[in-house]
Amino acid sequence: MSQEVRVRFAPSPTGPLHMGGVRTALYNYLFARRHGGKMILRIEDTDSQRFVPGAEEYIIESLKWCGIEIDEGVGVGGPHAPYRQSERKEIYLKYAKQLVEAGWAYYAFDTAEELDVLRKEAEAAGQTFAYNYTVREKLPTSLSLSKEEVEERIARGDIWVVRFKMPENEVVEMDDLIRGNVKVNTSTLDDKVLYKSADALPTYHLANIVDDHLMEISHVIRGEEWLPSLPLHYLLYRAFGWQDSQPQFAHLPLLLKPTGGGKLSKRDGDKMGFPVFPLFWTSPTGETAHGYREDGYFAEAFVNMLALLGWNPGTEQEIFSMQELIDNFSLDRVSKSGARFQPDKAKWFNAQYMHHKSDAELAELFQPILRENGVETSDELAGKAAGIMKERATFIGDLWDLTSYFFVAPTSYEEKQMKKYWKGENPARLKEVREVLASIDDFSKENTEEVVGAWIKEKEYGMGQIMNTLRLALVGAGKGPGMYDVTAFIGKEECLKRIDYILENLKPVE
Ligand code: GLU
Repeated sequence: MSQEVRVRFAPSPTGPLHMGGVRTALYNYLFARRHGGKMILRIEDTDSQRFVPGAEEYIIESLKWCGIEIDEGVGVGGPHAPYRQSERKEIYLKYAKQLVEAGWAYYAFDTAEELDVLRKEAEAAGQTFAYNYTVREKLPTSLSLSKEEVEERIARGDIWVVRFKMPENEVVEMDDLIRGNVKVNTSTLDDKVLYKSADALPTYHLANIVDDHLMEISHVIRGEEWLPSLPLHYLLYRAFGWQDSQPQFAHLPLLLKPTGGGKLSKRDGDKMGFPVFPLFWTSPTGETAHGYREDGYFAEAFVNMLALLGWNPGTEQEIFSMQELIDNFSLDRVSKSGARFQPDKAKWFNAQYMHHKSDAELAELFQPILRENGVETSDELAGKAAGIMKERATFIGDLWDLTSYFFVAPTSYEEKQMKKYWKGENPARLKEVREVLASIDDFSKENTEEVVGAWIKEKEYGMGQIMNTLRLALVGAGKGPGMYDVTAFIGKEECLKRIDYILENLKPVE
């Protein structure tokens, strides 16, 4: 790519960032890094009615959690600061006026009532109302009023907007890096508002184009929901005379519900019990939403899963580090059709990352949970226990249930196992096992296995009965890893103690 790659993630702070938004940010980031370019974070907060306090902080924290680094933008600064549109207010009016002067836009003074009359007329005639070439001259606009009247109305403080003068019956041809050539007839489009005098603010379309231009954005990578705005954006570039430096566009496919039809929503998540937001969210009115982070997902697993929702590497590989994603990402492998989100697959990714964690990494994550459960232990033992059981865990939070017996002796026993094994000859046999164990000096997994195994063979006892009774004594349940993992971990003294405890305290089943 000859031109410098500069991409932007341009969210509006209207609530928590949906995982689809995180994916947009991620693809922008991967694209920027792949091409040695810059990733910019611009906050598009010109719609004051939809502004939600806390949303911007949430966006920034989400990106940070995911490892999506910002080179320029809100929170970082840069040569085009400020990057928050509400702080760039003064910039836009000039551009709105420029379009009016060039005949690409006009002032409109219409009131809600005046519009309503036309809307009703259209409905009565069986048509849907559109604010376009059919009505713009029937309303009080700078196209129907004299220059003096327009100036007078502005001077006396009438409320006005600037609208784009959408050409009639022209075919706009656009290029999308994912969808190819797209054509739209302008007669199907309306005259969008670009600027509002009421709050002295531009609308999304004007601010977005002006800022992409001023910030020298080379590629606009955004969600499919913005595709209908693309013809207007193309025409705005033309109207400003900026076609030559206009960015290239790529519209990403939607994230679909697990059932396939329709866009993935918070409701789907609530219904099926999975998060659709990266982090836990509390709205200013106290509503909450689940987040991947708080639900126990690793950021790397979340990012890996998201990357593959709409992009495929062209190989069978599924596990990608951020660097591998950067090395492999390309827009031509992003699909046009929606990507169905599968909650089980998200869990699968988490489990994969879990299984690949070292004992030391696991120890760090597991220690707080151990402490919560009143267990004080070394990082070495915490990591070792987690390491033994990690293959059966999906989340760090699963580890306590899977490993608690390593740290805490059972004082109650699983009924089912008790009924099966704490009867007949088994308690007496356990006493014998106790003596065998007591005689072993090298309590390593291998040695204990050899000695006890040989003894069982010699006595011609049933291996299953002996082992399950021992498991009942040491674990208190029918779960856990290989028996000798447990004996080696807890050590000789603790083994004997647990055996003595069950022998003394649990009455055999008749
Ligand atoms: N502010 C828009 C949003 O919230 C940005 C769309 C775009 O990237 O152009 O998604």
